[in-house]
Amino acid sequence: MIMKGKKGVILGIANKKSIAYGIAKACQEQGAEIAITFLNERFEKKLTPVAEELNCGAKFYPCDVSKPEEIRALKESLEKDMGEIDFVVHSIAFAPKEGLSGRFYDISKEAFDIAMDISVYSLIEVVRELKPILSTSSSVLTLSYYGGVKYIPNYNLMGIAKAALEMTTKYLAEDLGKDGIRVNAISAGPIKTLAAAGIDDFSFMLKWNKAHAPLKENVTINQVGNSGMYLLSDLSSGVTGEIHYVDAGYNLMGMPAVEFDENGKPHIAWDGHS
Ligand code: NAP
Repeated sequence: MIMKGKKGVILGIANKKSIAYGIAKACQEQGAEIAITFLNERFEKKLTPVAEELNCGAKFYPCDVSKPEEIRALKESLEKDMGEIDFVVHSIAFAPKEGLSGRFYDISKEAFDIAMDISVYSLIEVVRELKPILSTSSSVLTLSYYGGVKYIPNYNLMGIAKAALEMTTKYLAEDLGKDGIRVNAISAGPIKTLAAAGIDDFSFMLKWNKAHAPLKENVTINQVGNSGMYLLSDLSSGVTGEIHYVDAGYNLMGMPAVEFDENGKPHIAWDGHS
């Protein structure tokens, strides 16, 4: 039981397809005690069976990260119900629809600010508020995507947010290392979730990745969950500030593999329409 004796909070479960759910399951299976959060009353109802399945008991709290008072209240509740905690999962992102399709240069300041606030600043704020109850060998994990490193069609505003999130991970890792707090990110390959549904032509991304990733598959929330559990556990005690790819190897590709027909004519292994 790799996580036996570990206690932590997981933000960002919307349903059983969420990456955060995959991480929660992996941690629970390895003996962790888990608290989870929900965005608002609508999600509280939907997530109650999930909280029960994860044995959260009363450790099921509201937290809209755009409201500082809810992050402060989360810290109070965690301290009361769990005392010190050993891990935090930040699996949260949001961008208004206008930021996830069309021409990028058209983006409004309002949409930009919302995406950066919820998808990036919230990591800093959650870590700062929870720091007094984080143990001296604790681990923080956030979720990124390759669109923060290279251009991905329609990922647009979220690509900017993920670039900022990855650097935030590194600066936090340096700043908090002296307090025994590690901070890492997983850059996951595309997975069909609620958040992903907001990205234009997301199903094309899934097909493209599957065809061109070295492992010729899309990753699952179980695979991301297991890697996340490793980064939250003492198995990774020497790892911080890392952006760890769990993407079937897609990030190593510089161009798609080419196949040659019987006449020696090259063609790309997949034309994108099948
Ligand atoms: P998801 O199931 O929709 O999870 C996103 C979560 O963010 C939801 O639980 C959502 O809550 C929460 N959220 C949004 N605004 C919030 C706010 N103001 N306060 C608190 N929570 C808020 O989708 P997911 O794909 O698992 O996303 C989790 C993370 O993985 C995100 O950072 C995403 O960018 C990243 N990621 C996803 C993929 C992918 O292909 N799916 C790939 C790489 C990285 P509600 O649903 O209740 O609004």
